[in-house]
Amino acid sequence: MALDIGPGDAVITTPYTFFATAGTIARTGARPLFCDIEPETFNLSAPAVRRFLEAHCERRDGVLWHRSSGTRVKALMPVHLYGQVCPMEPLLAIAREAGLRVIEDAAQAIGARDALAHPAGSRGDIGCFSFFPTKNLGAFGDAGLCTTQDEALAEHMRILRVHGGKPKYHHAFIGGNFRIDELQAAVLNIKLDYLDDWSARRGANARIYDEAFARAGLEAHVATPRTLPGFHHIYNQYVIRVQRRDALREQLAAAGVGTEIYYPIPLHLQKCFAYLGHGEGDFPEAERAARETLALPIYPELAAAQLHYVVERIGAFYAGGAA
Ligand SMILES: *Cc1c(COP(=O)(O)O)cnc(C)c1O
Repeated sequence: MALDIGPGDAVITTPYTFFATAGTIARTGARPLFCDIEPETFNLSAPAVRRFLEAHCERRDGVLWHRSSGTRVKALMPVHLYGQVCPMEPLLAIAREAGLRVIEDAAQAIGARDALAHPAGSRGDIGCFSFFPTKNLGAFGDAGLCTTQDEALAEHMRILRVHGGKPKYHHAFIGGNFRIDELQAAVLNIKLDYLDDWSARRGANARIYDEAFARAGLEAHVATPRTLPGFHHIYNQYVIRVQRRDALREQLAAAGVGTEIYYPIPLHLQKCFAYLGHGEGDFPEAERAARETLALPIYPELAAAQLHYVVERIGAFYAGGAA
């Protein structure tokens, strides 16, 4: 909304993310345009974006058109999935060349940094954070915030946040109720002091998993998460790629281990996006990730023995060879 994206426009993003990423695009009236992910990090693939622009878009009258839909491509929306920053350098280069704005979905990545210590949400025109209770910094209900380095954009977002009114009761814009409740802000203000410690403990848990999986010799069945060299991953989720995922998940549930699938249906196959005309096979890496990924418990309060138990149960599943 702040970038004035609406009907007739389009925004490029990933099909392998929480629904809100594309939901926000569609709710402005714009069209989500999907590009596939990198299989190792599950994040938007810059080469895929480049290929998409070359094959399906053209510049005419100073506008970048998506040929088949006749929409104007206005922005790129990478997602820093699971708490690892999506490498921004190649995407920012594409955006500069193509004249696109960049909106970072940093909902899962507060405090995550790339190899040059750039924090998630600091490189694009706007960074978006969520304080939904499942995030590393979770409120007791709903909350979120946007970041920007652009003073004019910051002012515009402040106005949109309060129904577009400034001064009060004078509306040059149509905004919405996008405020954080005082109550949630108070909770977050206290929890913020603990955030780095909680994220460090998630990281320590991830290292225990990594080592335990390596020792268990499960490479043939389980791929542990890959952190890019020098990147600081905050492990909002610890997501493994496995064979016979659904059977494993059932067996873990029976052993008292809660797991989750982020995400079972890629966005291009969601019913509400049928109008985009996609089908099975359009984004094979996103579809494969949706079939193979499983998020293990990673929260800061877990004891090492609990993590070892999880790995041991997974080892037992594959040793059993049960279907
Ligand atoms: C949680 C999440 C959101 C949305 O957050 P809300 O607080 O529900 O608006 C958006 N994108 C991603 C990737 C998320 O994980």
